[in-house]
Amino acid sequence: MADRYLHFTGTAPGRFLTRRLGLPRPAPLRRFGPAATDLGGPVILRTAGRSALDGPLPLDEPLTPDGTDGTAGTQAEAPRPAAVVLDATGVAGVADLAGVHSALHPLMRSLAPGGRIVVVGARPSADDHHQAAAQQALEGFTRSLAKETGGGRTANLVRLTSPDPAAAASTLRFLLSPKSAYVSGQVLELTGTAPAAAADPARPLAGRTALVTGAARGIGAAVAEVLARDGARVICLDVPGAGADLERTADALDGTALPLDITTGDAADRIVAALPGGELDVLVHNAGITRDRRLANMSADRWSQVLDVNLAAVLDTTDALLKRGAVRRGGSVVATASIAGIAGNTGQTNYAASKAGVIGLVRSLAPRAAAAHGVTVNAVAPGFIETRMTAAVPLFIREAGRRMNSLAQGGLPVDVAEATAYLADPASGAVNGQVLRVCGQSLLGA
Ligand code: NAD
Repeated sequence: MADRYLHFTGTAPGRFLTRRLGLPRPAPLRRFGPAATDLGGPVILRTAGRSALDGPLPLDEPLTPDGTDGTAGTQAEAPRPAAVVLDATGVAGVADLAGVHSALHPLMRSLAPGGRIVVVGARPSADDHHQAAAQQALEGFTRSLAKETGGGRTANLVRLTSPDPAAAASTLRFLLSPKSAYVSGQVLELTGTAPAAAADPARPLAGRTALVTGAARGIGAAVAEVLARDGARVICLDVPGAGADLERTADALDGTALPLDITTGDAADRIVAALPGGELDVLVHNAGITRDRRLANMSADRWSQVLDVNLAAVLDTTDALLKRGAVRRGGSVVATASIAGIAGNTGQTNYAASKAGVIGLVRSLAPRAAAAHGVTVNAVAPGFIETRMTAAVPLFIREAGRRMNSLAQGGLPVDVAEATAYLADPASGAVNGQVLRVCGQSLLGA
């Protein structure tokens, strides 16, 4: 399962050979941990033209001395910037795009390896096609920058639908941290108003209860661990057959194990019975299976097993828990899609249908769940993540899957877990109905 090529390219002969042969050179990613709590360098703020926001963007990181006024260049003796944030909310026509070039062009050579580029734009207007063209241009621009920047750097676009910059706080915190190491080339649209800030930003889920399905191993176990790190009391659900693994995951984070097949008819009742006070704040639908075959060879059983676990159970438990008010206001539902649900994949008509279905569910339910229950509904869409699921993929396809993204490597379960924790953070109330790909900007469905 280990990515031996990534280790090899970090050695002297590996560096020599990959350079000479023109092979992919993945950069080791700096992920969040006790020794890496931030990006380790200054953040520069630039503005293209005049900002359309009501106030300054909320940034936790220290700004460079020239960071707030948009003047050119960093000082010669200044450390290399770890991130640049471009406020492009006021870009309203083609001429304004020159300001995007002039703001970022001088910084591109100095941005530190593993650095971040975050472009903040506005929603393309339905009434002004010049503004819409210019704002849509930012998407092509950012996605291209993500592809060419290299060195483990990422670039993402955040669209604000209101002039209140506070709505972007949790999203900027996530994108400007090591927690988003495997998120690149993405567009997030923020709706709604500024949510209340967490009492303790290091433990935004303190006092909250989370349920994670499929938590015995892989991505689900990492999600449970990260939600517990962020302060949540976690109920870890998995099939009864997962036994010891499930107990181990739950014990390690002082959580509760709930052995239960999520497709059983009374699953929602049994979940509610296992919740303290019968309520939760964070519902993570992570359990998922594959039963791959081309459609010509796929039995009805293989088809329905995948649809039952990956989609029907997600719909049923979400409906049941929302209907009985078991998800507290300010809570969140995070479902797990896949890039296969966006791009499609040979041999995965059942799986891709189920994961595309999850995306449909999220987009449709999100505004209604927010209005009726005060709950956000989002999805993560992992790309190639190093787990037992992908270890079972044949060697050649596995190696292609790993490299065919802008970061030239597979992600780790913790990358999906960090994205899930960001969506579950009560401060992310303005993030609703979004499908966040955690795929290193995979070429599939890009
Ligand atoms: P995994 O197979 O390692 O873990 C899945 C877990 O779900 C297992 O512990 C399994 O027992 C549990 N599960 C399966 N059916 C269940 C049921 N009926 N009730 C309760 N639990 C059940 O998989 P993973 O790689 O960690 O994937 C987790 C999620 O991420 C899945 O939804 C998967 O489709 C999705 N995903 C994974 C990748 C990847 O590259 N690994 C990519 C895209 C999407």
